[in-house]
Amino acid sequence: MSSILSTSPQPWFAQRLLDWYPRHRRDLPWRNTRNPYAIWLSEVILQQTRVKQGLPYYLDFITSYPTVQELAAAPPDEVLRHWQGLGYYSRARNMHHTAQQVAGEYNGQFPSSYAELLKLRGVGQYTAAAIASFAYDEKVAVLDGNVFRVLARVFGVTQDIAAPASRKIFQQLADTLIPADQPAEFNQAIMEFGAIQCTPAKPDCLFCPLQTECYAFQHGMVQELPVKSKAKAARTRYFHYLVLRHNDTVYMRKRGPKDIWEGLYDFALQETGSAELSVASVVNAVEAVGGRLATDRAEEPTTAMRHILSHQKVEARFHPIWLSEPLDVKAAGAAGLVAYSATDIERLPKPVIITNFISNLSF
Ligand code: SF4
Repeated sequence: MSSILSTSPQPWFAQRLLDWYPRHRRDLPWRNTRNPYAIWLSEVILQQTRVKQGLPYYLDFITSYPTVQELAAAPPDEVLRHWQGLGYYSRARNMHHTAQQVAGEYNGQFPSSYAELLKLRGVGQYTAAAIASFAYDEKVAVLDGNVFRVLARVFGVTQDIAAPASRKIFQQLADTLIPADQPAEFNQAIMEFGAIQCTPAKPDCLFCPLQTECYAFQHGMVQELPVKSKAKAARTRYFHYLVLRHNDTVYMRKRGPKDIWEGLYDFALQETGSAELSVASVVNAVEAVGGRLATDRAEEPTTAMRHILSHQKVEARFHPIWLSEPLDVKAAGAAGLVAYSATDIERLPKPVIITNFISNLSF
């Protein structure tokens, strides 16, 4: 059984997609613009995010920061606060850095070629191809998860799409398929086709315009393609949060680099190897940051809350702790802890699990 990979060029592929696209495309705001800033913003937001989830974030960002200069000038905490809930926070930090790069080094104008766009921080092959084709009509094919799937199925490509070496094969194939006169439309069409017709679990093969040529359909391999090796099993981490409270303030700290949620705010943290934290450990931890427990106010820890990330699962338990007096300034400072009011906390960028906990906190 051999694939139809070698029979290119195959103009039928582009023709049918370009015929399908105007009749099925979703009307999304970033599709009605040639503004490279708006296109870039949408692509950064939509990486690893579904359109439904990303759309309100896109609208919020483009309204709050209508130009790349305005985004570049925004305080980092404010940008992270707008990003809150989207996950993969390094995207937000890279996005902010890139905005500053474009505003400074490029005088507020996005580079206008694929090769130049690749020099921007956080702009990889996919994003550079998207901007170059959508904004400047450069003939460069995009490759995202949707495109990998469509190509693997239609052309019977059995290489593992998770293997970096496979990218070249798919890129070469896509480059032979993209028409010189409609690169933007073609890229939009193939991504949309993967998103709503040739979907991962239940592709609509019955009403598919590529059905008669589709290798996977013709060979009963729709569920086998694309081939994707499994990611490593996620490890579980146990977070015990000490929610230190004094009067109407709560102590929080900004998370540092080299771990999840860099730059976001959470509470004093004890990370252990188990779901339990003894009372003695809690008392020691409070004393280590110069805290004295209020003897007349005690609360039970919450049940574990789970948060699943791409490579790890966080099991967090919150221990509300009332202090009889403010933390010792020196010890609190060494731990990065600062007392915040409810209004301050609302403005801080926080991981979703912290936001959810705080939403049930009474001040
Ligand atoms: S026939 Fe099915 S598997 Fe093939 S391209 Fe169409 S939707 Fe995808």
